[in-house]
Amino acid sequence: MDMPVTPLANSQAVPTALGDGLGCHSGQAQLLAAAQSAGKSEVLQQYAADYPKGPHDQPQSMCPAFGSLRVGLRMRRTATVLSGSACCVYGLTFTSHFYGARRSVGYVPFNSESLVTGKLFEDIREATFKLADPALYDAIVLINLCVPTASGVPLQLLPRQINGVRVIGIDVPGFGVPTHAEAKDVLAGAMLKYARAEVMAGPVQAPANARQGKPTVTLLGEMFPADPVIIGMMLDPMGLAAGPVVPTREWRELYAALDGSVVAAVHPFYTASIREFQAAGRPIVGSAPVGHDGTEAWLQAVGDAANVGQDKIDAAKNRMLPAIKGALAAKPIRGRLTMSGYEGSELLVARLLVESGADLRYVGTACPRTEWSAADCDWLQSRGVQVQYRASLEQDLAAMREYQPDLAIGTTPVVQAAKEATIPALYFTNLISARPLMGPAGAGSLAQVVNAAITNKARFETMNEFFGASGVGQGDRAGVWTEVPQLRPEFRADFKRQVIKLHKKRKAEEMV
Ligand code: SF4
Repeated sequence: MDMPVTPLANSQAVPTALGDGLGCHSGQAQLLAAAQSAGKSEVLQQYAADYPKGPHDQPQSMCPAFGSLRVGLRMRRTATVLSGSACCVYGLTFTSHFYGARRSVGYVPFNSESLVTGKLFEDIREATFKLADPALYDAIVLINLCVPTASGVPLQLLPRQINGVRVIGIDVPGFGVPTHAEAKDVLAGAMLKYARAEVMAGPVQAPANARQGKPTVTLLGEMFPADPVIIGMMLDPMGLAAGPVVPTREWRELYAALDGSVVAAVHPFYTASIREFQAAGRPIVGSAPVGHDGTEAWLQAVGDAANVGQDKIDAAKNRMLPAIKGALAAKPIRGRLTMSGYEGSELLVARLLVESGADLRYVGTACPRTEWSAADCDWLQSRGVQVQYRASLEQDLAAMREYQPDLAIGTTPVVQAAKEATIPALYFTNLISARPLMGPAGAGSLAQVVNAAITNKARFETMNEFFGASGVGQGDRAGVWTEVPQLRPEFRADFKRQVIKLHKKRKAEEMV
């Protein structure tokens, strides 16, 4: 993009009217109030309904906007542009390239003046026109981060299309969208809505790999590349085929997704996307073909939703279920486990672990409870597994301390805490959710990595003894010191008192 990039300190970028030091670490209430008074109430109300918070306000995960950014960057012929504070954009760009994005992230910078005078919107508009080359792009995605959302930058006033390039503007503030998982839905839902309007307006482009003849099942939620292939094999005896995976990799796949006979909400948190599929008259099926019981129930539900005869549903079950049973029995998992994550597939993985023989005590997910994971939740709870939706880090850690597992599967801070406590641990995102989970390929796929990790207990104990004996401290005393640092809890208590006093003073001033 040709727009000049002028790096600005965050304090410069935030108008004083919004207060100081705002961001995901503080000032959520002010940002929310500012956004509401700046004309964003409707979108924030929709988010509050789609992505309910609680029991606490927000799970501790990365900047939610990353979910939308990633969905945009993974789509062919799509430009993704951020509008937000330079520090947020830096972090998001860094993370997207860390996770292998092969595209540039567009950025329209701003300062206090351009934000409050409305010039930022004009800059965004100008940049969008410059970018809208139909030879290069099918769509341009513009993402308002926290500060532009709070300031009411009206992306919805951009033209719907420029030179045939679709323009999708979305607000993805950390104070309105709880997790990056749900931010994927914000963009996927906005694209489906746009594509559905196109379908209703007239003929649209055929999918690149049009499947002839068979009705399809649209798969909702990012999954391991082999999983849609396995699902296709499982659907075959019912005369069905696997349709596109949403979020899609190119625009025209959205039409094929909307054209599916059934939508499988493999990841249960895609509320806005499901709304579009329901508006298109598509039946939705929750859960996924994981393990023996999960696959049996899913094949039945999909077959029923697609009006397939029971004989064909039974044929699909008879082909798959014995193989799944065999794979599970051949690769058992032995040990007590706790698990947590923020991908949205946690309950599915939990089912697979339990069917593999693991003594799973707890599963925490940062995602909310929806009807599409209700069957998984019931199944797990009926087997004594504690299920925690919108799990906080504190709840995940408390579960680990309570159940003293042989292996803790979790997010980075959970894994770190587990290793400190000499409990073997695995990262959910990198090591567990990046594996095939569905059908016969999923059964047994977790056993090797989980069993190998459990046997590492002795190594952690050896490390603990070694570092303990060599005097490496913990917490504030971590590291190797010539003299052991003296802790000064009274200083901390004093600072805390001062901060509370200051906070009360500011509150009192606000009320005057
Ligand atoms: S855009 Fe993301 S990183 Fe920036 S303040 Fe909001 S939540 Fe935090």
